[in-house]
Amino acid sequence: MSDHIITLNAGSSSIKFALFAAEGGEWPRMITIGQIEGIGVSPEFEAKVGGNKVKRALTGAELPKNHDDALKIIIGWLSETFPDAKIAAIGHRVVHGGPIYSAPMLIDAASLKVLEGFSPLAPLHQPHNLAGIAAAERAFPGIPQVGCFDTAFHRTQPFVNDTFGLPPQYYEEGVRRYGFHGLSYEYIASRLKDRDPAALRRTVVLHLGNGASMCAIRDGKAQSSTMGFSPLDGLSMGTRCGQIDPGVLLYLMQSKKMGAAEISDLLYKKSGLKGMSGVSSDMRDLESSEKPAAKQAIEYFVARIRRELGGLMAVTGGADALVFTGGIGSNSKFIREQVLVGMEWAGIVFDAAANQKGAEVISAAGSAVKVYVLQTDEEAMIARHTIRVAKLAPAVATA
Ligand code: ADP
Repeated sequence: MSDHIITLNAGSSSIKFALFAAEGGEWPRMITIGQIEGIGVSPEFEAKVGGNKVKRALTGAELPKNHDDALKIIIGWLSETFPDAKIAAIGHRVVHGGPIYSAPMLIDAASLKVLEGFSPLAPLHQPHNLAGIAAAERAFPGIPQVGCFDTAFHRTQPFVNDTFGLPPQYYEEGVRRYGFHGLSYEYIASRLKDRDPAALRRTVVLHLGNGASMCAIRDGKAQSSTMGFSPLDGLSMGTRCGQIDPGVLLYLMQSKKMGAAEISDLLYKKSGLKGMSGVSSDMRDLESSEKPAAKQAIEYFVARIRRELGGLMAVTGGADALVFTGGIGSNSKFIREQVLVGMEWAGIVFDAAANQKGAEVISAAGSAVKVYVLQTDEEAMIARHTIRVAKLAPAVATA
């Protein structure tokens, strides 16, 4: 019987989970993936097993009051559905590893304290991630808990791409360009290493989902990201504004008398695709909308991507490959086309027919830059790290 790993990703009102079998292969085998959403509002359980989807509202005696209750429901369902699975370790997605953690690690009381200290750097995510670890420890006492940080992959970036133009004391206290989506970038880099190692020399990865960012990678190592101190910077996103002149924030505070909570709500929840369009945060809705504001929101999203692409290619000194991933990057032919047309100046020759067919390579044969469309899998990355850090199976190579 092989060891099993649970991966957990605890958000403000949801817990995403997956179960993997560590069978000694390079990648563990995913058995199921699911989530409880709407904790504290109207919670729903959802999971995929094989080709089947299980979905039900959690009400009455099942109603989870908090993350602990939700985790109990997940564990109860996993042990009922997979009674033979021997849970050997739990892997957690933790948004912030601060300036110091550049790799996944075993979580103990001391490291948990250090991670709590990073909560002010990611107040909307970190406390929930850590509550997930505490709840998992209570549910599985003595089982190794491994923290996998979304910031870790970016710790290789040079100082000039890590700092702001502020006096050094701010950098020292942790005001840095951390970058996020690191588990996704790491997964894509590992896949590219297997598939086309030469393409990892100079690469720009576009993770375009509800949250969206881009990352310049050189020789497999992160050089620069569009996200910075917080996951607000860079591209416009489902509900987040992306890059903004700090003068706008001063104006909101000084002239409009807006407080921190109100500004945070505007920038995180009421901006981006949703705020600009007044229609939806979902790219599918915008693509099918006739409203001029929906078209403008898409045009702005695309314009920022193209501008960042030029900037990140300057960081890597040109690119051997681009990779589109994330819900929009993997699925939206329209957005990929909008980003790639007219980019011949950068050595990118787009193959519209391959894009329409949903091919994995959407650059033309003669294109100096190869353009891939690859599905990301952050859970698989967490599970692979967890196996290695908890020493459950022979060490596996990472990109
Ligand atoms: P998250 O950042 O929450 O993990 P995802 O990477 O799952 O988000 O991306 C979700 C987004 O992907 C949705 O909001 C939707 O806009 C977009 N998306 C999914 N499928 C398509 C599609 N076929 N066409 C356009 N956009 C899509």
